[in-house]
Amino acid sequence: MNSIAEKLQKIRDFINIQRNINNNSVEIIAVTKNFNKDSVAEALESGISSFGENRVQEAIHKYSKLKTQHQNISLHMIGPLQTNKVKLALSIFDVIQTLDREKLVKEVVKNLSPESITKKFFIQVNIGDEEQKSGIKINNTVEFVRWCKNDLNLNIVGLMCIPPINSDSKKHFLCLKKFAQMSGVKYLSMGMSDDYEIAIKCGATHIRLGTFFFGKRKY
Ligand SMILES: *Cc1c(COP(=O)(O)O)cnc(C)c1O
Repeated sequence: MNSIAEKLQKIRDFINIQRNINNNSVEIIAVTKNFNKDSVAEALESGISSFGENRVQEAIHKYSKLKTQHQNISLHMIGPLQTNKVKLALSIFDVIQTLDREKLVKEVVKNLSPESITKKFFIQVNIGDEEQKSGIKINNTVEFVRWCKNDLNLNIVGLMCIPPINSDSKKHFLCLKKFAQMSGVKYLSMGMSDDYEIAIKCGATHIRLGTFFFGKRKY
């Protein structure tokens, strides 16, 4: 088994090769859901500073203290967010990648304080148009982003997606990229352990890796 540091190097090498083609940098987010504080500590020591969690409570448990000790940590919310958890979520996460409906966005705006002015947000897009999946409908993306930015003054920086399993990720990544351009946002959070190379080739600016770094999750 390779160490997290070795795995990180492997990704960085791949990104550097691609950079000559794409000319954008890629933020590597280590997804630590279902992994304990030891895994987080090893990742931190290896030089990772961006982390992803999909539950508010779990994030608070693992990162509250750690974030006061390591102020360079950037914590990303990548799971579905309930409106009654928005306030707590804003207290721990630096970036929320899963804004996907009007009600949630309004709740976020209501809970933003002067200190949270630096927070960044992504709109999650239901790129495969799957009934059970979160995310706004593809065709509503441009209008939704415009509403968040112009009417609500939210700091929307990009789009995020999770393609359907066993689908052609490339097609979905290119679609997300097109809609980001149409919406006037810069960042693309796409690509997980199984398809991060494709995502990077398609222009991902943020990749989210759990299994790749930490192995299989035990539930
Ligand atoms: C769990 C999760 C990941 C990481 O998945 P891996 O396949 O383990 O890399 C990435 N993004 C989201 C939204 C997730 O929920």
